[in-house]
Amino acid sequence: METLSEFQLIRQYFSALGASRADVALGVGDDAALVDVGSGKLLAVCTDMLNGGVHFPADAPAAAVGHKALAVNLSDLAAMGAQPSWVLLALSLPSADAKWLDEFTAGFQALAQQAGVALIGGDTTRGPCSVTVTVLGQVVPEQVLRRSGAQVGDRVYVSGSLGDAAAGLELWLAGQRSGSAAVEALLSRLHYPSPRLALGAALGGLASAAIDVSDGLVADLGHILEQSGVGARVELERLPLSAPLRAQVDPAQALHLALAGGDDYELCFTVPAEQEGAMLQTAKQAAVDVTAIGVIEAEPGLRILNSAGQPVILQQTGYQHFVAKPS
Ligand code: ADP
Ligand code: MG
Repeated sequence: METLSEFQLIRQYFSALGASRADVALGVGDDAALVDVGSGKLLAVCTDMLNGGVHFPADAPAAAVGHKALAVNLSDLAAMGAQPSWVLLALSLPSADAKWLDEFTAGFQALAQQAGVALIGGDTTRGPCSVTVTVLGQVVPEQVLRRSGAQVGDRVYVSGSLGDAAAGLELWLAGQRSGSAAVEALLSRLHYPSPRLALGAALGGLASAAIDVSDGLVADLGHILEQSGVGARVELERLPLSAPLRAQVDPAQALHLALAGGDDYELCFTVPAEQEGAMLQTAKQAAVDVTAIGVIEAEPGLRILNSAGQPVILQQTGYQHFVAKPS
């Protein structure tokens, strides 16, 4: 039997499932779905499941699990330019451990308060540790950010820095629970990602396409390119690397993690040249660093160039739950 990749599987089995409805403005395939409920705004909806031992280490702090389960969904709304409003929480737990639940809910609550989202429902069951969060938000149609809008000549940008969470995961899996300021900063990026909500909302009307970086830059920028029918050139030396990452890993590894490491939850977006000035102003107001890393080109595919202008070949492009067999 042929093994399908996660994305082939979604395309083959789920992208056309269900009835078709005229009020679905955007269905399967972007960071969130958009539905028109007749309020003038679009309702943005997304759901993400976090399994213990897969999406978070089995021994991750419970507060981190609570934070991250919400953060990864808020990040998907940020990538649509939407503002979060409501959340549902479905939990499967092996046992009712009061200490774990106290910490989990504290982590969830701190971020929910900060983001202004109300918990309005969910489900609680016994089983392997798994957390599914569904977030609902709102966006006016003119402010929507899709994966599919990138045009030839647009600049490719990323927020913040890349590779930190993947470095944090390596440290955690190697048994590091604390250490230097750099180690703690990387562990914190792994466990407590900050969804870029203010930036995402500010990019509406300015960016031509956007996605959040959950599976790694190459994989996620790849979705923008595919869905926009374009390609891109990215310059390796422009990738934003944090001081903690540079302090902790050697330069080649830092670049590898920045390209292929997941879990950073930064935004990757494209901006037409004439909107660049306004975008930089708006990012400054949102107090988020943004870095131009490349440009959209007509030739399909992603070309990563080193400082000598030579193409770099990646061994591994990002996290996938099901990997296709090489043909
Ligand atoms: P993200 O990383 O932004 O959460 P994913 O890569 O998980 O997005 O999913 C890609 C797209 O496929 C999204 O639009 C998501 O809603 C959709 N999707 C994933 N799994 C299913 C499924 N089982 N049924 C319907 N849609 C799905
Ligand atoms: Mg996403």
